[in-house]
Amino acid sequence: MNILGKITVLPRLPEAIGRLSELAYNLYWSWEPRACSLYRELDPEAWETYGHNPVRTLLEASSERMEAAAADPEFVQRYQEVMAEFDAYMRRTDTWAAQHAADLKSVAYFSMEYGLHESLPIYSGGLGVLAGDHCKSASDLGLPFTPVGLLFHQGYFRQTFNRDGWQEEKYDELDVTTLPIRPIRQNGDDELRISLDIGGRDVMARIWQLVIGRIRMLLLDTNLAENHPDDRLLTSRLYGGDQEMRLKQYMLLGIGGVRALRAAGVSAEVWHMNEGHAGLLNLERIRERVEQGMDFRAATELTAGCTLFTTHTPVPAGNDAFSWELMDRYLGGWPERLRTSRDQLYSLARSGSLEDHGPAFNMTVFALRMSRMANGVSKLHGQVSREMWQGLYPGLYAEEVPIGHVTNGAHNLSFTSQRMRDLLGTVMPKDWTQRVHERELWNNAEKLTDAQLAEVQREMKGEMIDFVREHQREMLLRNGAGAAELSHTETLLSPDVLTVGFARRFATYKRATLLLRDRDRLSRIVNHPERPVQFVFAGKAHPADNPGKAMIQEIYRVSQLPEFRGKIVILENYDMHVARRLVQGVDVWMNNPRRPLEASGTSGMKASFNGSPNFSVLDGWWVEGHDDGNANGWPIGEEREYADQSVQDDADAFSLYQTLEQTIVPLYYGHNEKGDAAGWAKVVRDAIESVSAQFSMQRQVIDYVQCYYRPLSQRRDLLTEGGGVRARQIAEWKAWTEKQWPQVCITASHHLPATAEPGEDIEVTAQVDPARIAQAELRAEVVLKRGHRIERFPMVQREDGQYAARVSLDRSGMYEVGVRLYPYIEGLSNDFELGLIKWA
Ligand SMILES: *Cc1c(COP(=O)(O)O)cnc(C)c1O
Repeated sequence: MNILGKITVLPRLPEAIGRLSELAYNLYWSWEPRACSLYRELDPEAWETYGHNPVRTLLEASSERMEAAAADPEFVQRYQEVMAEFDAYMRRTDTWAAQHAADLKSVAYFSMEYGLHESLPIYSGGLGVLAGDHCKSASDLGLPFTPVGLLFHQGYFRQTFNRDGWQEEKYDELDVTTLPIRPIRQNGDDELRISLDIGGRDVMARIWQLVIGRIRMLLLDTNLAENHPDDRLLTSRLYGGDQEMRLKQYMLLGIGGVRALRAAGVSAEVWHMNEGHAGLLNLERIRERVEQGMDFRAATELTAGCTLFTTHTPVPAGNDAFSWELMDRYLGGWPERLRTSRDQLYSLARSGSLEDHGPAFNMTVFALRMSRMANGVSKLHGQVSREMWQGLYPGLYAEEVPIGHVTNGAHNLSFTSQRMRDLLGTVMPKDWTQRVHERELWNNAEKLTDAQLAEVQREMKGEMIDFVREHQREMLLRNGAGAAELSHTETLLSPDVLTVGFARRFATYKRATLLLRDRDRLSRIVNHPERPVQFVFAGKAHPADNPGKAMIQEIYRVSQLPEFRGKIVILENYDMHVARRLVQGVDVWMNNPRRPLEASGTSGMKASFNGSPNFSVLDGWWVEGHDDGNANGWPIGEEREYADQSVQDDADAFSLYQTLEQTIVPLYYGHNEKGDAAGWAKVVRDAIESVSAQFSMQRQVIDYVQCYYRPLSQRRDLLTEGGGVRARQIAEWKAWTEKQWPQVCITASHHLPATAEPGEDIEVTAQVDPARIAQAELRAEVVLKRGHRIERFPMVQREDGQYAARVSLDRSGMYEVGVRLYPYIEGLSNDFELGLIKWA
């Protein structure tokens, strides 16, 4: 049979519940469990079978069931409530953005992956969920925001364990016509298409739209009959291919993504690259300008001038780099298209220190060079990033490297259980779900009684345990287990036992097996006669990561040992659904990465929203989130780095056992002995109060708007004015200054005293030869560094032509003193944008 294509026709719903088909195509339902319940009740089996997909459920549900629901007043009432809330959400005009960022023009956001819901498996882990959450909050806040991504037909993989606990990967072909997406159509009926040259072939892509509340995501899809079979695979698997496949996918995302935005008529003024994967979007934007007659340098100024880059990778090897040979094969025509040279273009992506295998095009370096603002994803990660990329900014201290940070958050409503939401609703103002970022709001949690919190948590834990038992049963059935083994799942985990959750990608730096380091001690903790502890694990290893898979297997094998059976469990196929179940149901959330490799981490935030306190290494967000005074959770290990990994592992494992045994366990079981649950309830309440606002995605997105989107939007206005006059001037000035710079000279003409009294002033002078650069465009300064603190004292030119500044050594200590010179003109994004610095 030759199938031309698939067409999905939604059933006509009974009028009383008619708008369920409209709602199915708006991911609003993904953070409204009550909306999901409506679909589930229409066909519970289809709901489960197809991964909680409303569109598919409507297709499968029988007309009898629909009629019955439409005739059930209770169902109809709930339907009406959900729709009324949906309408109110969509129609709101007094959004945060309307009130606080009305000047912000449109933002385009590019990400390789998006984690929005389990039924749309185009994410692999935290990076994707973060991007998905960012979109949801952009909608909540009413931002003009358009995300762009790829529609992977086989998504990431579905994970199963074989009988030995070894991870196996299954790739299911998604039926894209039953996903909550629709192709964008042009004027008439034609589906919107864009095309781009990849490796000498024209590749076509269809553009789907995915509606998320008030915003619309564009997803590119090359699985089209008119494409070459190899090109159809470009949107097959997320992170599935080799280097070459990666590069082709990045071209599609970056270059194709810009074309998709243009074709869909979306204006984009501020551009946000979530990770370096999207870096090639800059090529296309420069090309657009060059074709309008601008030169490469001015076009680059304009492009980079309104672009933000967020880095997530704290290890050099984690940053994609392509050989020049591969680049030539795929992007060989681009230097000419951009009217520049290959050397000039490729040099924008070079980092000598990272080039072990010859010259390479490093996506992160390119993204840094192609953006005028950049950030890491927690305070500590910002610092790690500045140190890591210091080599790109010669002449600057790491502290001065222009990479800031916005600490990640999570979308509260997507991860907070409906039960907890209902409970919070009893003490919060009516519109609290729109204002989750407001700290004072959460003081209301004080009004919740210990018993109320305990009851919700007991209930959610019960649901989680039922879920775990069912999940394990399915795995055993598939693996051909016998009746005895199956019956065992009925007693898996106990609702009365302190339950610790650990779930995330199984990258080795996350050290999922740290808990197993001292098995005897672990056994004593797990099998304590009065105060036992149980553990639930889940997580996927990347298909090529055998050490990660070995960690899964080790946990699996331990979970089969008689002493741990039923008390340590590892679940298959960690996804957003499993994540929600766990963060909502466990008592404590554990995380023990090798500091400082966890750029942020977000799952602990989701657990805290539900009153499951975080128990974690002081890395990523937890350095900021952990509250010593209030005990909103517990630290593992110390706030330090180690030279020797095994020493670090020992120290952290020891701390983990110690805190668990001596602090967490006694606190949790305290109420059994003294009939007093206050100690535990206080931590639960503090976790909710201290984490919910500070680590809400709304707070995160607001930070992006205030620190980056708005300044970049203003910068764009400045640069584009009058057809880009300012951009041209800056570009010309940079080219001229770069040429003169080798002749510029600065010499300090003062001998510093070796010691001084606190409060003493010293005069520092210098002689500057500006070559042919105007004096006004040079800045000389004295730099004083004491520890991490850097002070800069501008030098002024005296009548005798010397530059001078008085600096005061206000405190005792050891200072580094230096004099440096750098070129500057009005309109640069930061003092060191040009990257030219001379020290005397
Ligand atoms: C939140 C989330 C993550 C990120 O977890 P971390 O603990 O921050 O690594 C990964 N996967 C899923 C499915 C998530 O929901």
